[in-house]
Amino acid sequence: MELVDERVQNPTRNKTQHKAKEKYVALYKYKQYLSNSDDGAFDALHSPGATTLHSGIYRCEGCGHEVVSEGGKPLPPQNHHQHSTAQGKILWRLAVYAQSK
Ligand SMILES: [Zn+2]
Repeated sequence: MELVDERVQNPTRNKTQHKAKEKYVALYKYKQYLSNSDDGAFDALHSPGATTLHSGIYRCEGCGHEVVSEGGKPLPPQNHHQHSTAQGKILWRLAVYAQSK
């Protein structure tokens, strides 16, 4: 039996699948807890291991993998997960900005 990396061969979410779209997107239930923003923080791409500027959910540009990262701590490193050649290198983009008082 050949072992394959399911994240590369079959990039669908395991826990909660969205049938309508085969895309990785952050999920939420109560819309009153999220608000749209055009903050430039969502445009920046961050290298693996870079210091997290804003606490929140970060999305890998190459494969859509999502992680939670805390401000001031490093984003996941290069060896966090494997990419195919087509997926390119890991770059993290802020997807959901966690606000704190
Ligand atoms: Zn990735």
